[in-house]
Parts: sequence; structure tokens; C-alpha cells
Amino acid sequence: MAGSSPAMMSLENPMPPPVFRFAPSPNGYLHLGHAYSALLNFDSARESGGRFLLRIEDIDVARCRPEFEAAIYQDLAWLGIAWEQPVRRQSEHLSEYRDALERLSAEGLIYPSFESRAEIAKLVAQREAGAPWPRDPDGAPLYPGSAKLLSASERARLIEQGAPYALRLDMAAACARAGDLTWTEHGAGPDGETGVVAVRPEVWGDVILARKETPTSYHLSVVVDDALQGVTEVVRGRDLFWSTSVHRLLQALLGLPEPVYRHHRLILDGAGQKLSKSTAATGLRELRASGVAPADIRRLVGLPP
Ligand code: GLU
Repeated sequence: MAGSSPAMMSLENPMPPPVFRFAPSPNGYLHLGHAYSALLNFDSARESGGRFLLRIEDIDVARCRPEFEAAIYQDLAWLGIAWEQPVRRQSEHLSEYRDALERLSAEGLIYPSFESRAEIAKLVAQREAGAPWPRDPDGAPLYPGSAKLLSASERARLIEQGAPYALRLDMAAACARAGDLTWTEHGAGPDGETGVVAVRPEVWGDVILARKETPTSYHLSVVVDDALQGVTEVVRGRDLFWSTSVHRLLQALLGLPEPVYRHHRLILDGAGQKLSKSTAATGLRELRASGVAPADIRRLVGLPP
């Protein structure tokens, strides 16, 4: 029967298109590194018949500014990139992150810590007297877990007194709950890791998932958003490679789907350093003002016309 032939079936149930996203934080102007990441996502979506989404990661109210967000839209449009509307702005979705946090909290996986950064540094220095204290992939010392020892009544008392706090993931408990996990890497990590990669979230220690004033963090919102937006392909810079361990762990704990990942090379400056802020030599606005065309940007970052 024609109606049940495989060809007809696939027409009736087409594979959903892949979904890509570019997720900048409006805490500065875009530079060549952002252009590379955005264009790679946009090209990949076009070549695969997929969708391209733009997401504004603006939960850090102290650093994000409306003029940087406006500049993101202008610079991407100038590059010839088109995105679906509406744009998801994280600051408008805090209740969704809070719900996810509450689910983890109900599982007993979250605890408050009250030390300042300086107090943590002091604690680490004391412990370091014996042997070097472990550091995370970004070079920050792991949280020593001191607040885990506080009793429930001590925690309640400190919160009632109005003490500032961070909500941390109990990493040992979370890893035990989730079991062994992997992700599929279509790019490569800092040491060439590719294919099926085993997650190692423990290298981050008890990561912060929220703070007293902000019910989320980069890790939590990225995972909630990728799931809510149906993102299937996460294409981003290699500097975020090991963050994927935390993202896969949170996906497993929250029962969220697993995208595939492609961590791409970073665009480096003349001194071989990662671009951290836009300068006259690397900022898209500066380059545009000096007469550089979008096609030149593609060439500068090594993408085909
Ligand atoms: N907002 C992050 C950044 O600007 C990117 C997050 C991601 O792609 O997962 O570095």
C-alpha cells in the first residue's frame, strides 16, 4: 500500500529540524570571537535546514547593560544573521529557574553557604599549608564544603539574620544520584577530547547554582533554557568545554533532554590570548566603523564566504 511505504512514512513524520542557539551576555560589545561563534551556529542551522535562536544571558544585573544588548542586535544583523522572534531574555524567566532550583532542593541536593570570597580564600590557604588545594578548570580553588557542616537551625538563624548566601550543589550527593554520564562531542576539548566524553563534574566542586538575590546561575539557566527552547545542538567556545560536565549532571537530575555539543576553537589575539573584551583590533563596532565589511569578518575568523 502506497500510504504505508517508508517514503510516505518519513513525509508524514519528518525528523524535527535541529535547533541551534547563540547565547551572548550583554556585559560588553561583541568581538571577533562572538562573531565566529554566532556565524558558525547560523551557518550550521542553514546548512542543516535547522532553526537558529538568539538568547540574551542577562542574569548578572550588575554587569549587563541595555546598550550592550541593543548593540548585540545591531552587530548580528550587520553580520547578516537572522534569528527567530521572540528572543529569550533570561532576566524575564527567573521563576522558571527558581522552579528547577526548588526541585533540586527538594531532593536534598542544595545547601546554603555563607562565607565571602575572602573568607573562602582564607579557609583554602589554611588547608593548603599541607598540600596544594584542588582548583577547578578555570583555576579557582574548590569550595572547601565548610557550610555543609552547619546544622539546620544554624542555617535558619543566619538566613533569618539577613546574611548573604550562595546556594550550592552538593556535588558528591548529586553525582551519586545521577550515576555515570557522558556527552557526545562533535568538536573537541582542550586536550583533543572528542566523541563520547565521560562527565567529570566533581572537578568543579560544590558549584553555586543561585544566590540570595538571584535565584539562578549561568549553569542552571543554560540547562533550563536549552531544554525549554528545544535546543538540540550546542555550539560554543572551547573555554566552556568542561562546564558541559555540570550541564549534563543538571540535565540528568532534572530529567531534561541531552543536546549534542560542539566546542569550537577560540579566536585569539595577536599575543595568542583568548579575546576577553572588544578592542579596536577585535571589536565588531570598531571594525565596522573603520570600513571593514561583513565578508571581511568571515575571512578574518576563517569562515567561508
Ligand atoms: N553566555 C555565555 C557567554 O557569553 C555562553 C553560554 C553558552 O553558550 O552556553 O560566554
